[in-house]
Formats: sequence, C-alpha cells, structure tokens
Amino acid sequence: MSSLTFLQQKQPVVFKILDNSLKANKLAHAYLFAGEKGSLQQEFAMKLAQSLVCEKGIWGCGECDVCLQIKHETYVDLQVLDGGYSVIKKADVLALQNQFSMTALGSVSSKIFMIKNAHNMTASAANALLKFLEEPSNAVTGILISDQTGNLLPTIKSRCTELNFRPVKSLGDNLSRDQYYYHKVAHHRFSKEEYIEHVDYIRFKTSFETFVKYFMSDPDYAMLRVSKELLSDSDRQANHDVIQLFMDMLIVFFNDALSHSGHDEMYKAMAASYLEKLNVPRLLEVVLESKGKLNNSINHPLLLDQLTYNLRRVMYA
Ligand SMILES: [Zn+2]
Repeated sequence: MSSLTFLQQKQPVVFKILDNSLKANKLAHAYLFAGEKGSLQQEFAMKLAQSLVCEKGIWGCGECDVCLQIKHETYVDLQVLDGGYSVIKKADVLALQNQFSMTALGSVSSKIFMIKNAHNMTASAANALLKFLEEPSNAVTGILISDQTGNLLPTIKSRCTELNFRPVKSLGDNLSRDQYYYHKVAHHRFSKEEYIEHVDYIRFKTSFETFVKYFMSDPDYAMLRVSKELLSDSDRQANHDVIQLFMDMLIVFFNDALSHSGHDEMYKAMAASYLEKLNVPRLLEVVLESKGKLNNSINHPLLLDQLTYNLRRVMYA
C-alpha cells in the first residue's frame, strides 16, 4: 500500500478536503491540523509540504530530490518549529520570518512553515505569528499541528483552516453500530463493501453521533458542529445525500427511543435518556418536517438553520 493510499484510508475526510484544494490549486494560507497525537497529522503535514514543491504529481511523490529534502527537513524554504521540546518564543517566530525574507530574494519556490505542538507558544510569539499570517504579501503556506487546540489563541485559530483528524485507533471499531446504520439507512446509497470507509458514510456517522452525544447538554454546539460536517464537501449533491442520511438516522433513533429498541446497550441507554429528559415525539415531528422539505433545490444551510431553530424550540419549550 502506498503511503498516500494509507493516509486516504485512515483519514478520508481530511484527505478529500486537501485533495480537492490541491486539484483546484486553492490551498489555504494556513492550516491547523487538530486531533490527538498519532492521528497522522505529522504525516499529512509532510505530504502536503511535499505536494507544494514536488513537480511529479498533485500529491508529492515522496521519492524525488525535493520530496526527500522535505522529509529530512533540509529543504531551504521549509521552516519547522516544535513546541514539544520547549515553549515557542517570539524570537523563534521572528527568526522564522527572517529566514523567509532572506531566501525570498529571486526565489520562486514555495515557502512553507510547520509548527508542531503549536499550542505551546508564548502570547508574544502568538502575536508575532498572527502579524505574519495577516501579511497578505507573503506567499507562504503554514501548517500548525496541535492536540490541544483549546490552548491556541482564538485569533490564530480564526486565521487557519482547521482540519479535524479522527483518532486512528477508533477507525473501524463498533462494527455492530456500523452494520445497524447500514441496515437502517445507508444501504440505499453504498455497497456493502465500501460503506465503512466511504467519506460520505463517515461524515454521516460523525454527524449523527455528534448530535446524539452533545444535543441534550448543548444543542447549539451540537448543531453547529453537525452543520459544519454536513456542509463540508464542495460537492452539493454529496452534502445533500449526507444530510438525508443524517435525518433518516435521527428519525430511526427517535423511533427507537419511543419503542425501546436498538442494536446495542449503549445506544439503547442513550435513546432511553432522550426519552426520559426530552419531548421525543416533538423532536421526531421536527425532523420529519425538515426531511419533508429536503428536495434538490433546497438551500442546505437554510434548512439546517431552520432545523436547529425548531429543535431548540422543542428543547426550551
Ligand atoms: Zn516528489
């Protein structure tokens, strides 16, 4: 298996977002790779950096001279900082900028910086970095990596395109749950062989499970995260299909709560606590109503806003 296929299989959503951007030549100026350690952020960062300099394909080939220079961090226009050893200081950020301004003379190559453990940075370093990110003149691509994004300055986060990496070890877990989703809603859209690893299936599953997990305690947060996931593809039809799966599964879930059924004990316990604390028949009506409006000409963000609004009304009635 090539390393690219491996990355694609383990982080299909991240892969697809970057793949689309590379193909459209529309990369962001700065990325934040967020997720727990070991979920392949470093590998993706290296691959993305290689893709910026390699001339052999859309994704870096990993074998040519410049790809190897990136791998060994010897490429002249690659700067790497790491907050894993000691806190990143303002001087470190200024030195990084300075290096770029030296090599920029007459250079047409891509300039890239990586900041590993980016949360471990002093406030003045963060402010220096912020100024650097805001400078529109520099043709620099930045990749920040962090497993504690809550400790990053919000202003830094807002300058970056955040990509969320799933914990790798959990991929493929909960097979009974996947089979249940497949059997209930997903078999219309996927073949049995492909569905678990299909990007759209994973987006649907993430959305549904995020909803179930967070809605009861914080409906606004839950719907914000769900909406972001459901609308994350640049392909409208893909989003449409995933929204449909999400709504279908919510309908199944609320019906399961009402009839005390489900496939495993955890799911049943969750459904039972919904039934105990919330007006499930009304929630079910709200989702059915939204589902009825889901046609090919619907404005998806608007539909999800309305769904959020109506779910909140039930919640706070
Ligand atoms: Zn290459």
